Amino acid sequence: MHDLIIIGAGPAGLTAAIYAGRSLLNTLLIEKMAVGGRILMSETIENYPGFPEGILTSDLISRMQAQVNSLGVKIENDEVVDIDCQLKTVKTSSGEHSAKAIIIACGSRPRKLLVPGEEKYTGRGVSYCATCDAPFYKGKTVTIVGGGNAVAEEALYLARFATSVNIIHRRQDLRASGILQQRLRSEPKVKFILNSVVTEIIGNQKVSAVKVKDVVNGGEKEVVCDGVFIYIGYEPETAFLKGKLQLDDSGLIIAQEDLSTSVPGVFVCGDCRKKTLYQVINACGDGAIAADSAYKYIVK
Ligand code: NAP
Repeated sequence: MHDLIIIGAGPAGLTAAIYAGRSLLNTLLIEKMAVGGRILMSETIENYPGFPEGILTSDLISRMQAQVNSLGVKIENDEVVDIDCQLKTVKTSSGEHSAKAIIIACGSRPRKLLVPGEEKYTGRGVSYCATCDAPFYKGKTVTIVGGGNAVAEEALYLARFATSVNIIHRRQDLRASGILQQRLRSEPKVKFILNSVVTEIIGNQKVSAVKVKDVVNGGEKEVVCDGVFIYIGYEPETAFLKGKLQLDDSGLIIAQEDLSTSVPGVFVCGDCRKKTLYQVINACGDGAIAADSAYKYIVK
């Protein structure tokens, strides 16, 4: 029996673990993938206060993990397969744990385009992680799909390796921040195919092109490329919580200001909750609030 179980060791879960450790709660942090979570798909973080030159994501995560370790919080590499929110029990691939309170910090996963060829060529030219796969595209041509901050950052990263980076976005305007758009426009390797959607990813053994449709005039063409990177947003990893906590239609967890959920003693933090801004900085803020609320719930 633990005081607190935290599910997910991204920036939100790690921060919750730091706050819980400092409150001397007997805490178990469970992570199914690598400590750090989805943010490890970005090479650097430029907007985390205190690092005017930016910081390597892996460095920031290592520092957070060291802080968690120094407080004696146990991190277990395991997957949560079921949860009983009322009883505060968590079933994992290898066992069962219980606690007085639970913090859900399970984050999100990349959204899929859901076009023919996407699944077939995943790992053979289709990727959701430029940081992981960009070096394979040295001297090659890549396509990147989306229009947000992730596309902008990852297109600039890919341009370090590839000879040409085509951004395909379904509208005329990107939603990426001004500073990133400025940088994109001054990178000669980056080209824009706007008002367009990818309708199919084609290839033989590997990706060779994407079929693109102009949404304004209906025209279709093939864009030759060696790789396709998809950055069209994220979906919360909350399937295991359906029917157990209040979720919105897209699966995001609904929380109060203190990050309590619809079940007393279950709290949420980070990208799996419904909010207005999805950044590392407020994921960490969430982690602090969730741990503080869990502490108050446990000792009350
Ligand atoms: P995002 O901001 O939600 O943008 C997703 C983009 O994909 C949008 O441009 C959207 O088009 C497009 N899109 C969505 N579904 C699509 C579909 N089915 N087909 C084609 N295009 C589609 O997602 P993100 O850029 O991945 O970023 C996720 C979150 O992380 C955001 O909150 C973002 O601010 C944050 N983030 C921040 C930073 C940073 O601050 N440095 C870096 C990376 C990510 P529309 O524009 O038409 O909706």
